[in-house]
Amino acid sequence: MAHTLLLPLFFICGLTSTVGPTVEPAEMLLQPAGEGQLSLDPSEVATAAVDFGGVARAEPLAVMRPGCAGDVVRLVRAAYRSARWFPVSDRGHGHSTNGQALSPGGVVVQMSRGRIAPRPMPAYSPSTGEYYVDVWGGDLWVDVLNWTLANGGLAPKSWTDYLYLSVGGTLSNAGISGQAFHHGPQISNVYELDVVTGKGELITCSEEQNSELFHGVLGGLGQFGIITRARIALETAPHRVRWIRVLYSDFAAFTRDQELLVSLHGAHRSERFDYVEGFVIVDEGLINNWRSSFFSPKNPVKISSVQANAGLLYCLEMTKNYDSSAADSIDEVVEALLGQLGYIPASVFTTDLPYVDFLDRVHKAEMRLRAKGLWAVPHPWLNLFVPASRIADFDRGVFRGILGNKSSGPTLIYPMNKHKWDDRSSVVTPHEDTFYLVAFLRSALPDSGDPTQSLEYLSRQNKKILEFCDDAGIEIKQYLPDHRSRAEWARHFGPKWGRFLRQKGQFDPKCMLATGQGIPFPLV
Ligand code: FAD
Repeated sequence: MAHTLLLPLFFICGLTSTVGPTVEPAEMLLQPAGEGQLSLDPSEVATAAVDFGGVARAEPLAVMRPGCAGDVVRLVRAAYRSARWFPVSDRGHGHSTNGQALSPGGVVVQMSRGRIAPRPMPAYSPSTGEYYVDVWGGDLWVDVLNWTLANGGLAPKSWTDYLYLSVGGTLSNAGISGQAFHHGPQISNVYELDVVTGKGELITCSEEQNSELFHGVLGGLGQFGIITRARIALETAPHRVRWIRVLYSDFAAFTRDQELLVSLHGAHRSERFDYVEGFVIVDEGLINNWRSSFFSPKNPVKISSVQANAGLLYCLEMTKNYDSSAADSIDEVVEALLGQLGYIPASVFTTDLPYVDFLDRVHKAEMRLRAKGLWAVPHPWLNLFVPASRIADFDRGVFRGILGNKSSGPTLIYPMNKHKWDDRSSVVTPHEDTFYLVAFLRSALPDSGDPTQSLEYLSRQNKKILEFCDDAGIEIKQYLPDHRSRAEWARHFGPKWGRFLRQKGQFDPKCMLATGQGIPFPLV
């Protein structure tokens, strides 16, 4: 507490004298007043120096917890006007894996622990006929869910698998889960944003108003501004979820069925699932499928019995949402949908649970891993978008090749429909109507004594996967990208690179924001 100051002149004096030899007049940097807090507390600074990945490390000078958008404006404006350059990085909940939310030598704006104002109630828009809610950029999705459920039985439409992520953090990337084939990613389910640009201007933007900033910020990796408010699309929350998993040993049959299911995005709700994902089953260890404590003893078939002759297995995962009024017909609806699929007979695993429990499923897995000391370990994750036309080549070269018989964490695989993504946003996806997310969610266990669980081994394997794609001409895009050189970033963005650079010059001309992404802009 001794190091925690109310946003004040005198902290910033200290900050600038640390930043460089030139001590600037404090008033140049920050006007006093505001509800936020700026902290030099070593433990808070140390927390902001790392992220979930546990691989990158960069000490900021200070951590700011804004109480309102005005605090963010004051900080960024002061930094913008300062003669001495210093970075300001927005940190949602620090769940990046390659240092994207770190602010080496700068100020971390800790959004998920700021804001004291009460949340606005969900509202109805007569013009769209839809409900929405305005949330703080640092709100966690789990809090948004609890709030909207408690106030009208509503819920956001599009999700991530894990809810302890911030709204601004996922909107800066895309925000994807098994609902994306139908609703699009989270960035396709936002009506309006308040953004503090790198010049310290607070701008409201939407499709109609300041649309360039709106589209640029969505998937924009925090480069154009700090999202302080987001207007999120809502729907009436279903009560329950029928959650089904079926197994395949034939990859072609698995992807054919996945693609069939996502092609039903426009069908009547009784004729499509609400969520479609999948994963590769290498073995059933806790680390390997921490997302899925699902194959419960109640189920008649043990995976091992199916796996005995098959080697690698692929699990297709689906849900059907329903209300008590539809409880009588849910079995029939699910049966009809499953009837179209070619999975291994008798490999159907089913459970039924409240909607909220389904959405919050990964948190339960987190608790189990935490209890075993397996959560706060290095996470050399690799997330790729793979064009559907090359997914079989990817299977042969990676799942059945490079991975060997160990995955060191869940490997997710599911397709999405490109037309549900707005190409005006900053995010980049392959140039095909259907593409897959393939997510290697690995945990390194340096003390396990097994060299194949080491950070070095897994990082090398990630590199091999990327090289394989290059050599095989598979035009993947990294999701939650980690590139270093300018050439790599230019290649990542492809035709969007020119626009990205122009918008950077327009909205963050001093290149102060989100430097942890490691994009070497020509201006810096
Ligand atoms: P941070 O890591 O804190 O920040 C990420 C980036 O966004 C940084 O560049 C930061 O500067 C910027 N940023 C943060 N807040 C703002 C803001 N308010 N305005 C502007 N820029 C901002 N992703 C999915 O899409 N689907 C999943 O199912 C999924 N599951 C996950 C499960 C786990 C266990 C973990 C650890 C991550 C998962 N992710 C998933 C990845 C997650 O979406 C990213 O890590 C994302 O960055 C959100 O994390 P965060 O809120 O902690 O953001």
